Amino acid sequence: MTESHASSHLSNVQLQSLRQDLREQLEQRSRQLDDLRAQEQDSSGADGTWQELVVSITAAERAVAELSQACDRLAGDTYGRCAHCQGPIPFERLKIRPLARTCIDCQRRHEAA
Ligand SMILES: [Zn+2]
Repeated sequence: MTESHASSHLSNVQLQSLRQDLREQLEQRSRQLDDLRAQEQDSSGADGTWQELVVSITAAERAVAELSQACDRLAGDTYGRCAHCQGPIPFERLKIRPLARTCIDCQRRHEAA
């Protein structure tokens, strides 16, 4: 009764696919963040665009941080587990929302609260 892959309900192929998605998104977001920072440097701050830039930069920074954390979780064995009930998050959900940290039940409970 030994199960070598007990730590993850996801197959290697599924993990590989999710890892690729995360990396692509991370690269995209990092590039976007670089662009925004360059724009911020050029901006005079005289009009309202600077504030919008700061908001966009903050959002992009957060996305980059969340994506790299997800990559770290994927490298370990905690990825794909619900943060609340420790239950497995289905691959179909992760494929749509690679950053999902809760299962659908917990998400609904959270939203209802
Ligand atoms: Zn859950």
